[in-house]
Amino acid sequence: MTATSGARATAVPRDLPTGLRHYIGGAYRDSVDGATFEVSDPVGNAAYATAAAGGPEDIDLAVTAARTAFCDGPWASMPARERARVLVRIADGIEADDERLAELESFDTGLPITQARGQARRAAENFRYFADVIVSLHEEAYRVPGVQTNYVVRKPVGVAGLITPWNTPFMLESWKLAPALASGCSVVLKPAEFTPLSASLWPEIFAAAGLPAGVFNMVNGIGERAGQALVDHPGVPLISFTGETTTGQTIMRSAAGALKGLSMELGGKSPVLIFADADVEKALDSAIFGVFSLNGERCTAGSRVLVQRPIYDEFVRRFAERAERIVVGPPGDPGTEVGALVHPEHYARVMDYVAIGKAEGARLVAGGVRPAHLNTGNYLQPTVFADVTAEMRIFQEEIFGPVVALTPFDTDDEAIELANAVRYGLAGYVWTNDLRRGHRVAESIEAGMVWVNSHNIRDLRTPFGGVKASGLGREGGARSIDFFTEPQIIHLTLGDPAPPRFGVTRTS
Ligand code: NAD
Repeated sequence: MTATSGARATAVPRDLPTGLRHYIGGAYRDSVDGATFEVSDPVGNAAYATAAAGGPEDIDLAVTAARTAFCDGPWASMPARERARVLVRIADGIEADDERLAELESFDTGLPITQARGQARRAAENFRYFADVIVSLHEEAYRVPGVQTNYVVRKPVGVAGLITPWNTPFMLESWKLAPALASGCSVVLKPAEFTPLSASLWPEIFAAAGLPAGVFNMVNGIGERAGQALVDHPGVPLISFTGETTTGQTIMRSAAGALKGLSMELGGKSPVLIFADADVEKALDSAIFGVFSLNGERCTAGSRVLVQRPIYDEFVRRFAERAERIVVGPPGDPGTEVGALVHPEHYARVMDYVAIGKAEGARLVAGGVRPAHLNTGNYLQPTVFADVTAEMRIFQEEIFGPVVALTPFDTDDEAIELANAVRYGLAGYVWTNDLRRGHRVAESIEAGMVWVNSHNIRDLRTPFGGVKASGLGREGGARSIDFFTEPQIIHLTLGDPAPPRFGVTRTS
């Protein structure tokens, strides 16, 4: 079987699963009502598999299995070292499946194969990292000599609901699965409906690593039905969500009634500020990679590039020239730099933004069209708009594709004002060789994460997350463990207890 992609065909991974099922209590299952949905690839845009479409009954079965494993199984109370051993075996399993995983991910999402390979490695690293975290966590104690010893017990919260998006799906699933499992929680994962393929590898990886049955459960399905049922289930005390801001708002409203714990990793429209004193060559390479890698479907993409006026015209010219030369092609081709966008609906949305940009008067200097050699599939030549102003929708709204807005600025204050002139606040990037300016500007950007003289390169220990409409809470390092555990303080009296004595003074 092959899927066509304009000028050339792209290979379909061997043994491609064509029926994706739920995984509940250690067994594969269809939906209780038998419902399914079709899954298509972004090159052929043809259904290659059907997936079980979960609903409230399937979620209930999964939560019940997870609850049973949590309350009755060994996982939640297992010594950290033992749990860490399982996590390390999971990491080994992911690495052993590296090539297969990359093939499936690239086929299902449209990510270039070379970039999909990086995702598998990163997913394995998440498990290895959280194995290290749980064995090295310090414990808190507060002593009042002779009077009290107070110590904090960290308890896994219970059944964690994990809801994930379609961009780099396996890696983003690992991002939640690793700390949730490391903490001793049981989980119900609801993968994104556009890209459920790579998630089908989890059950075997987990089982082979010795994760007890019922600790990991997965329900496929449509967000508004399966995802919503997970959010609404009374047996799920916390939800870790990554996805669009509007979906996050819906989930927060739904979770309010039961006061559920929420971690929200939402959308972004991150600025790249390039000052005239910067290493412009490096800034150019980094800005291009930052917005066009992963097909531009990256939450931390630097999708607004603000450039200081003295270097602006030349920068725009060179940025456009490079964007036109980016190799757009079949995701499975190792020479491809930008692949196919995930789904025709998303492709149509990105193309709408290209039309909006033109209509609102931005100067289109590169791309904006399907490459001539690719007459089918969700392909777009990397698109560069120059002279974009802060009022324009292409400056304000997340496009989540290979489309960038370039805007000139004069002063530091103007750059900061432009950087902060959107509702999002996920990431920011500053390019300058002036150390003081680098610090000052970085700290003035309203964003959860700022890089100076770099694109997004992240140490797993650092806090990840956004401010404003980009999210609530932080993941990363011990912060993820904090989210999936509840601290309990035990106050232990050391001396003789001497409680005030009520009811002893009145005699009649
Ligand atoms: P989405 O919000 O459409 O879907 C995300 C997940 O939520 C999917 O699994 C979907 O099925 C589910 N869902 C949808 N409606 C739901 C509901 N009512 N209740 C429960 N679950 C529901 O997002 P997407 O289009 O899959 O992903 C792209 C978005 O994700 C972009 O906005 C991007 O910026 C964001 N993102 C953010 C980060 C981050 O760390 N901040 C990382 C990656 C992606």
